[in-house]
Amino acid sequence: KADSTLTIVVVGASGDLARNKIFPAFFALFYDDQLPEDFTIFGYGRSPMTDEELRITISKTLNCRVDKRENCHDKISQFLKRCFYHSGQYSSEEHFLELDNRIREKESAQGGKISNRLYYLAVPPTQFVDVVRCANRRASSDNGWTRVIVEKPFGRDSESSKKLTRDLKQYLNEDQIFRIDHHLGEELFENLLVLRFSNLVFEPLWSRDYIRNVQIIFSKDFGVEGRGRYFDNYGIIRDVMQNHLLQLLALFAMETPVTLDAEDIRNEKVKVLRSIKPVSIEDVVVGQYKGYTEGNMSVPGYTDDPTVSNNSLTPTFAAAILSINNSRWDGVPFMMVAGKALHSKRVEIRVQFRHVPGNLFNRNFGNNLNNATNELVIQVQPDEAVYLKINNKVPGLGMRLDRSDLNLLFKKRYPREAPEAYERLLLDAMRGERRLFIRSDELDAAWAVFTPLLKELEQKKTAPELYPYASEGPVGVHYLGAKHHIRCVNFRF
Ligand code: NAP
Repeated sequence: KADSTLTIVVVGASGDLARNKIFPAFFALFYDDQLPEDFTIFGYGRSPMTDEELRITISKTLNCRVDKRENCHDKISQFLKRCFYHSGQYSSEEHFLELDNRIREKESAQGGKISNRLYYLAVPPTQFVDVVRCANRRASSDNGWTRVIVEKPFGRDSESSKKLTRDLKQYLNEDQIFRIDHHLGEELFENLLVLRFSNLVFEPLWSRDYIRNVQIIFSKDFGVEGRGRYFDNYGIIRDVMQNHLLQLLALFAMETPVTLDAEDIRNEKVKVLRSIKPVSIEDVVVGQYKGYTEGNMSVPGYTDDPTVSNNSLTPTFAAAILSINNSRWDGVPFMMVAGKALHSKRVEIRVQFRHVPGNLFNRNFGNNLNNATNELVIQVQPDEAVYLKINNKVPGLGMRLDRSDLNLLFKKRYPREAPEAYERLLLDAMRGERRLFIRSDELDAAWAVFTPLLKELEQKKTAPELYPYASEGPVGVHYLGAKHHIRCVNFRF
């Protein structure tokens, strides 16, 4: 029998995130025997609810992966028996003391061992500090660890982010704070390290000597669709670029870490993030999707959404050029493109290589001269894949060249269903593995890249360029690409 117990407290248990992602992820870990033998889960929130009502609510979202249907119902009912609910205010130490009493009852029934506690804050950031204060003073572990997972957003800019960190650190040490960005739990993040550092064919090419530009693309084929209240206050730059896309860039561009330990990796990420010049407004295009009517069909624009203000200038699309001021990347443009309501769903990194010097075969490409460079694409959506565009001879007499792909399609090579991003991250937090969580100096460096731009856009009240719903985005992005000699063919979303 294990010598410790684990109590998980999901704060904000009545919310969407808890119901749709967090409880299902804990259940998937339970199904895979990844939770400790003696675990208990408490939901906490202001909504009045009994244990049974919580169980009924979450049971609707628990399911077993296609390849693991065996005993699914039994497993769900075993899991639900370990779930409880405690109703209380987020700022009430008294209510957290009541929660602590209930947790202690469970812990002592499990044999009075070392008791560890994991808090998941699935509440708006306005509640973070109150919860952390109350939990720290009244409901933290006496003899084991207490860790707190916080959901983004981590502030709106450098100042508010620093303040949040300062406030949390009144009650927690840095190693107790797990800042979660669920995209970091996707396969790509781990695989990027493997691709780069375990294949001799890539790493020697990974610099300004061979790479002409890098594009990091995140496009969604739907808009806010009635869920704009949060987004309208943040916009696409804060929602996607400052966190996930910048994290991808950091892993892509960092130097080789000393080891795979979290601190070594995070040290390298901080170094490269600090080498990025703050983004200049001259190197940015912002856009917002607009509605249109075609025959009987009418598609709403961003400002038509009831959860968004009518005169909102919030960008739903942005493209930005980032420059890394170090010897490896000097002069290589990193283009980030992120948008909602575009015509396709795509998340990928595209690496365009330079021309082969001398270009012996140029004339054999006919009209496709520009297509002759190699391109490595690391794709997350629509399908996980890694492919390399190479030049190849078309079989037959004569010398005609063609561009073709060396293609690794994950679903074909690895048909097993992959775990959800949240599962990996929750397991890491339980194990104290911090590699995929964001350290506070990393967060500061990331905000420093975008804060001056965000302030300037807001002060100047920059109007976003409108683009039709389900289109390729603002035209301006092609001019921005051309200014930095990036081929526009890649921006067809
Ligand atoms: P939510 O449903 O709006 O809120 C979660 C719970 O927090 C609610 O059920 C409510 O519980 C409590 N709450 C809501 N507004 C509050 C307020 N103004 N003051 C005090 N308590 C309030 O949010 P969510 O979608 O579950 O997401 C939770 C957090 O994670 C948010 O901060 C969000 O930004 C972040 N996040 C969400 C997602 C997602 O996929 N949904 C993804 C990334 C990040 P009670 O009324 O029972 O107390």
